[in-house]
Amino acid sequence: MSAFIELRNIHKSFGHLHVLKGADLEVNAGEVLCLLGRSGSGKSTLLRCINQLETIDEGSIVVDGQLLGVEWHRGRLRELKDRQVTAQRRDIGMVFQQFNLFPHLSILENVTEAPIRVLGQSPRQAKQYAVELLERVGLGDKVGSYPLQLSGGQQQRAAIARALAMKPKVMLFDEPTSALDPELVGEVLEVMRGLAESGMTMIVVTHEFGFAREAADTVAYMHDGVIIERGSPEQVLSDPVDDRTRSFISAVK
Ligand code: ADP
Ligand code: MG
Repeated sequence: MSAFIELRNIHKSFGHLHVLKGADLEVNAGEVLCLLGRSGSGKSTLLRCINQLETIDEGSIVVDGQLLGVEWHRGRLRELKDRQVTAQRRDIGMVFQQFNLFPHLSILENVTEAPIRVLGQSPRQAKQYAVELLERVGLGDKVGSYPLQLSGGQQQRAAIARALAMKPKVMLFDEPTSALDPELVGEVLEVMRGLAESGMTMIVVTHEFGFAREAADTVAYMHDGVIIERGSPEQVLSDPVDDRTRSFISAVK
């Protein structure tokens, strides 16, 4: 059986800078994969390619049986039209280090904006689900607040609710707790843990080894644009095979 997310031989350059150099990655439905790697190794670029915020130069990405960004037409691959790409992107939720909430919209409006504009939900319908999601992330009493009135941890939880409002098949997290004060990290990881337990398929770039040990099914290590090691959290974090993984793990610990 094929995996839910399948990345094959992904290459990506920015000008002369060759960042992704043939990355392969598979994630099964319901699997939580933590992606580790040094700064600059290409982790964010890889997530951005899956979310089609970047186009890949070579290779293929399949999510839930669907090829991303391209289609076969008369025996050749051709790029999808913008609206087809937009449709594919709905299925993939992404949470960024810097929250990226709209500052001029309330927390509720941040969550309902895309379901109304992109999915065509009625404001009433969107609001009902948004309130449910905000309650789920512990922000039931903050629906009318604006992002800057909230702590970083609350903003990040709102950003998770906003991504979930699109009913994504996959959630990508790019260092979701790196910008937070240490005392706010736990509340965000708690929400992510709940999401993992609910069966969401997740790729999480993080340096939180505790989260990786508890919540991940798999840990993968990226080095210089390639995934060089993957295994159970226990194996990769406690007994890495590759020397480069080993030196990273001992530096972060
Ligand atoms: P990581 O998330 O692992 O720290 P990134 O994927 O952010 O790594 O970056 C990998 C490399 O690609 C870095 O050298 C970075 O400077 C470069 N890079 C990322 N995005 C761009 C871009 N839009 N234009 C030029 N270089 C980029
Ligand atoms: Mg990054």
